[in-house]
Amino acid sequence: MAPDLLRALIDRAAATIAAHAEELTELDQAIGDGDHGLNMKRGFDAIAQNADEICALPFGQALQKAGMTLVMTVGGASGPLYGSLLMGLGKAAAKAPETVEELVAIVAEGVAMVQKRGKSEAGEKTMLDVLIPVLEAIRTADGDIAAAARAAADAGLAATRDMRATKGRASFLGERSIGHLDPGARSSALLVHAVCDAVENGSGGEA
Ligand code: ADP
Ligand code: MG
Repeated sequence: MAPDLLRALIDRAAATIAAHAEELTELDQAIGDGDHGLNMKRGFDAIAQNADEICALPFGQALQKAGMTLVMTVGGASGPLYGSLLMGLGKAAAKAPETVEELVAIVAEGVAMVQKRGKSEAGEKTMLDVLIPVLEAIRTADGDIAAAARAAADAGLAATRDMRATKGRASFLGERSIGHLDPGARSSALLVHAVCDAVENGSGGEA
């Protein structure tokens, strides 16, 4: 199960980032420096290239290796931040989660690592405005966890539009950051959907 799940996670994540790289770049052109699409594509392409090696590892170590790959290949702020996310997930996951409690503990550690690395919290117009609501949605989901996670990701992303950025490059714009979606929140929402699709459908089927 774990190698197939890992393969599906990598395939889906790399594919959605590649398909949306231009959109991520455009969002970052509006409130940042316009490199988010390229940064994310470079990082997830590198993970995809190392997929055989990554998938041969136990689940947690595989996530940590994917995280280190991001740190090593992505120059922007998002590399260390997503790297921290994956390394936190991997550190907390001895094996692929089998219960909601296990999943919550793993995701909580990943999100905590991003917060620690970014010295950031909810409401600052960053990827955390997707990741924190998704964690909360998984924790409180009643029934379909993937549906709850997707909905929380979409709502969290939409909420970044009216926020004023107080972290990252967008914070340099102050009030002028208001009115735009945050690029990192968009990439996080894409990745949440990719993870849900991989868990539900593996590498193939409808995204
Ligand atoms: P850079 O800002 O170095 O150009 P990217 O464009 O790849 O890097 O990534 C920008 C995204 O990183 C932002 O849209 C935001 O979501 C996220 N980000 C930046 N700083 C922080 C932080 N301190 N905490 C959480 N997320 C952050
Ligand atoms: Mg940027």
